This record gives sequence, C-alpha cells and structure tokens, in this order.
Amino acid sequence: MKFALAVAATATLLLVPTGGGALAAESCPGNPDALGTSREVAIDPATLPRIGFMQYKEMVELQPKEVIFTFDDGPLPKTTPAVLEALRKECVKATFFIVGRMAKAYPNVLREVAAEGHSIATHSVTHPLIFPKQSFEKGKREIDDGFAIVNAILAQDGRQAAPWFRFPGLGRTNAFEKYLGERGVVSMSADFPVDDWLHRTPDQVYKIALARLEANGKGMFLLHDIQPSTVAMLPRLLRTLKERGYKVVHMVPLGTPGAEVARAETRTRVPAMPKQPVSDTVSPGMMPSLAEPVQPAPPATPSAAEQVPGPGGLLPARLNPLPPHDVVSRDLVPQRRDEMPFSVFWPSQIMYDLRAPTMR
Ligand SMILES: [Zn+2]
Repeated sequence: MKFALAVAATATLLLVPTGGGALAAESCPGNPDALGTSREVAIDPATLPRIGFMQYKEMVELQPKEVIFTFDDGPLPKTTPAVLEALRKECVKATFFIVGRMAKAYPNVLREVAAEGHSIATHSVTHPLIFPKQSFEKGKREIDDGFAIVNAILAQDGRQAAPWFRFPGLGRTNAFEKYLGERGVVSMSADFPVDDWLHRTPDQVYKIALARLEANGKGMFLLHDIQPSTVAMLPRLLRTLKERGYKVVHMVPLGTPGAEVARAETRTRVPAMPKQPVSDTVSPGMMPSLAEPVQPAPPATPSAAEQVPGPGGLLPARLNPLPPHDVVSRDLVPQRRDEMPFSVFWPSQIMYDLRAPTMR
C-alpha cells in the first residue's frame, strides 16, 4: 500500500506539504505593481471533500473578484518553466495537478514547481481518458501510484504533495470519490476551464478565460501548463486581472502555518460558460465552435522524441483514441446529471462518454 504509506507520512514524517509560506502580495521583488497572492486558504478534506462547481455542489468560499489558478498535466520542460516565470513575475501562487509519468520523465521540473511555493497535487499516472473506464483496481493504481511517484520526487527536498486529486478529463465516479474520501484525499474539480487544451490560439484562450471569469465574478480556473497557448497568454491574463481588480487566492494543505481554513460555499446554480467574451469585442470567427470535430489532447508523452511541432508550438504527437462506447461500464459513468454541465463546453466525444446512460 504505497499510497496508504504516503498519506500516513503526513502525520508521521517531517515532510513539509507543498505550497504555503510567505505571501508576497505587498512586496513582489522587482514588480511593485504585481497582481500578487492576496490570501492562502487551507483545504480541510473533512469539510471540503469535493471541490469545484463544474461538477460538485461545494467550492472554496471566495469573495467577489477572487480567483484560484490550477494547472494540469505537467510538468513539461518546454512549457512549465515559462508558466512558472509568468507566475513569479506577478508573485502569483497556484496549484499544479501532476501526471505521474510526466513527473517521472521530468522530476527536476516538478521540483522546481514545488520550490517556487506552488501547491502540488496529483492527476493519475498515465492520464487515462476516461478514468471511469478503468477497472476499479487499475483506477486505484492510477491514483495510488500517482501520489507515490510525485511524493518520491518531492521527498528529495523534504516536501510532500497535498492530498488533492483531479480526475483526468474530470471523469469522476462515486466509487473513486469514495476511495479518495476514505483516504482523506480531496476530489478537486474546478469552476471553469479555459479550453486551452483544444489548441486554441493564445488570444482565444485569453478571451475565453476572461469571459468565463467575468460571467461568474470569481472562481477556480482550470488551465494546462503543457499548452503553448496558455504559456503565451498567461502574462497578459495576469496583467488584466490586476487592472480589473481581481485577487488571487492560493489553496494550501491543511496545517500550513498562517493559512486560514477555507470555508465551503454551496452552489445554487452551475457556472456560466460563455464562449463569447462578455466585455471584449471579438469577431465571431475568433471564438471556438463546439460543433467542430475536436479531439481532446492528452498530456504530452514524456519522450521528447514523441513531441512534434504543431501550429501553436509543441503538441503531443500521439492522441489517445477514445475507446468505443460499448466498452463503457454502465455503473462506472458519472451518475449525477445536474453536476455534469459538460454540454456547455465539452467536445462532443467527451460529452457522450461522460453523460449518464439515461441521458443518451
Ligand atoms: Zn488532465
């Protein structure tokens, strides 16, 4: 039980959870006008076992204009350091959901992310699309080994991952959530994606991010540090948030010194997911259309030889084809229809796979 040991280590070893530390909102070196990080909130798995209005009814309580940044699928040497640099320049702290095989391939990039004071959480080993299609044993291994790989790397610097897990493709199930919950691990979704994984241009990603944030007034972003479009647009997004008076909130593990414990906010409606900017004028052709046949992008494969230059930069060379629908185990697909507002923004293939059988 590698995973049980990893979790038990929280209480017994002197490992320091990632994230936390001194806030730099008031004094950001070299950037007196930085966006900064306004406050830290510690996540208590007992009161917030599932987080993110995209899929759940609970979220970290945020004040109007407060934003949480999360980045998935890294680390990747060609993109993650640039994301770190953009965050560093603005003294913004975020959470990174690490893919085990990526961490194994690029352990030093993971260590760098943690050393910057960002929170580290996990996102499986191989990023199976879609998680519910795994057998329960395989799924457990994806979860347990993901934590084991990441913690083995972080332990070199006396650190440890936060007990938070994000399902690849957000493919949650009751059974896996229960498994995580029993181990004190938070199932962490988000409030809105920015579609950077659909290979949009940086300008498109920027506008979608801003439109969705402004439509909701606050919330948790889901971005990908392996996407060139995110790398390109992030400095501009952070600047705009500063200009418009937004504040960044950093999630940290429970027990982080000086961090207030996050309160839960309960959802009264699903997040708004505009495809059009609410405050910018943009030609309709610039905005993504979900009618187009898009293929979800899995995380890039670890080997540099498997990377190919794409129109926006580095793209994964191989796209994991989704298995045929008839292999979906009916009792493993998400059940809660009201918690799966994917139809608003998710590509049709993913939508089909995630919908409850009764919706098909
Ligand atoms: Zn992912």
